[in-house]
Amino acid sequence: MTITDMRVRTVLLPLEAPLRHSTGVHPARFIRTILEIFTDEGIVGLGEVGGGDQRGALLKLKPRLIGESPYALERIKQKTLRQIYYLSNPRLYAAIELACLDIQAKAANLPLCDLIGGKLHDSVPFSAYLFYRYEEGGKGGETTPEQMVRWTRELVARYGFKSAKLKCGVLPPDHDVDVIKALRAEFGPRFGLRLDPNGYWSRGTAIHVAHALEECRLEYLEDPTWGLEGMARVKERTSLPLATNMCVTNFEHVAAGIAMNSVDIILSDIYYWEGVRGVKTLSTLCDCFRWGLSMHSGSELGVTMAAMIHTCATLPNLSYDADAHYHHLLDDIIEGGLMQPEEGRYKVPTGPGLGVTLDEDRMGRYTELFEKEGDYYARFHEDTRNADWFPINPGW
Ligand code: MG
Repeated sequence: MTITDMRVRTVLLPLEAPLRHSTGVHPARFIRTILEIFTDEGIVGLGEVGGGDQRGALLKLKPRLIGESPYALERIKQKTLRQIYYLSNPRLYAAIELACLDIQAKAANLPLCDLIGGKLHDSVPFSAYLFYRYEEGGKGGETTPEQMVRWTRELVARYGFKSAKLKCGVLPPDHDVDVIKALRAEFGPRFGLRLDPNGYWSRGTAIHVAHALEECRLEYLEDPTWGLEGMARVKERTSLPLATNMCVTNFEHVAAGIAMNSVDIILSDIYYWEGVRGVKTLSTLCDCFRWGLSMHSGSELGVTMAAMIHTCATLPNLSYDADAHYHHLLDDIIEGGLMQPEEGRYKVPTGPGLGVTLDEDRMGRYTELFEKEGDYYARFHEDTRNADWFPINPGW
């Protein structure tokens, strides 16, 4: 089988409300580029990548794919990720690899998980992803502990989540402590809780917050401060496990992360770690070094969400509920619309390949919406309610 063509389309999907984080505001929409790889046997593979409009970057790699076998992933990785310094981007490779794996699994008439070790579970637990949200169109506007608890209660009632992560670094850290304590009081000792300021606190603030929250038994404190060295110094001073998707984010960082004893848990991500197969390698490394393994979210739509579910279902050492922004979306681009969890768990799709199909009506609608609204990545961090503000790290 050989690759004959590639199609790329950028879509814009609406969210319920804008999401605040340490470097600004995520507007109430996600932009993703959807990739289709065509073969001479008529099988089409799906991929997806974030970071705004990625059509140009993907099309630059197209000549390196045409004529290749979708089974030749090591060749494709060498040609698209390892040889062209200015274009080498693990996110783009991950999208291409995903489409090739989708083709391979469809050709074998097997679900993707069967190609990568087979599933250990029929469904995968995800966590509620809490942000301080700006109000827009009558939705969002949660800031106080009471408002955050009320919204989390709604999410738990609707989706059955058994855990929640709070994205912080927006308000004074003692406010975050109050929110976490309110969530712990509301949902009891078995509810999983995590806190993530995206490395935005000084070491002193990080240690202060860690001490204040030790009684709350967080599952982990995620990137409380910047860098391998900063994390190592905080880790010396707290019993809370420290997790990261900011300081150990690729294979080169692993040796330093171990040598410096910077973290306890790695958040895997198919885009950071060179695709689904890279996450499988990371899983083995985590076993070797006794790191915990969790999964990061980067505002995925249904194609990536399906890939995350397939991958998570095969990871024996994934001991935390996965993150996903997915429940913030108002619609998806796949047939059937948004997948729905039961008891906080998303079922592993059972159809061949990723088990999801593009809905052409939705693709048309959200491609048009992208063309109308444009690529917001040039002003991604802009907080329109806080003119002229920009983040300085550490912020607290
Ligand atoms: Mg994070």
